[in-house]
Amino acid sequence: KRRPLVAGNWKMNGVKASIAEFGRICEGYDHALRAKVDLLVAPPATLLSTLAVVALGSRIAIAGQDCHPNPNGAHTGDLSAEMIADTGASAVIVGHSERRADHGETDARVRAKVEAAWSAGLTAIVCIGESRDEHIAGRTLQVVRHQLTASLPEGVTGADTVIAYEPIWAIGTGLTPTTHDIAEVHKAIRHALVARFGAQAQAVRLLYGGSVKPENAGEILSIADVDGALVGGASLKADTFLPIARAY
Ligand code: 13P
Repeated sequence: KRRPLVAGNWKMNGVKASIAEFGRICEGYDHALRAKVDLLVAPPATLLSTLAVVALGSRIAIAGQDCHPNPNGAHTGDLSAEMIADTGASAVIVGHSERRADHGETDARVRAKVEAAWSAGLTAIVCIGESRDEHIAGRTLQVVRHQLTASLPEGVTGADTVIAYEPIWAIGTGLTPTTHDIAEVHKAIRHALVARFGAQAQAVRLLYGGSVKPENAGEILSIADVDGALVGGASLKADTFLPIARAY
């Protein structure tokens, strides 16, 4: 049985004043919640080291939001997976649609980043998802299967990889697919993973992301093959992030 994971992606939000809010998230991750669900927060890089220290003892995992494929070198402004691991983080998000759009990241580059993450001992949280036009055209499964094939290296296991299905049109819009549509996509992802990686892919957790809030978390998290959520806006506050985790 896969253990649920509720992950918060803070994106480009959070300054020193946000450390106290993270402290409230840690305090709220009590015994009862720990028994049911894993919690993870991906703050901006400037807060990684600090939050990793605050998180000690709480068992909340810390993740980077991106990494460079190379271990070091002349790449101004970038962070290597080793650097992210060095902060105390245990995971890194790769291939988020905002990085694919803002930085022209291709599936091939995402794949290289997954390999870099693994080399540094980090769990890769790999994001895939169709655009609004692709959704309307009924091409969702085709797009997602292709991204999955091209963004993942060989040898994926449940210990080193998490997949996040985030329809781009659902991110930050308040729109979500129907439960039927989410179930269909997650089933197709599971199918594709098992076909390629074998039985060990049964242990890979599949998160849904896109406008997850306390109000819809119960319904979304109860869908078959949804093993958790990747939460943007609602992860910034303990008051909205913790109730999503408590939906389990
Ligand atoms: P929202 O929860 O703000 O829609 O963002 C989802 C997301 O992109 C998480 O990575």
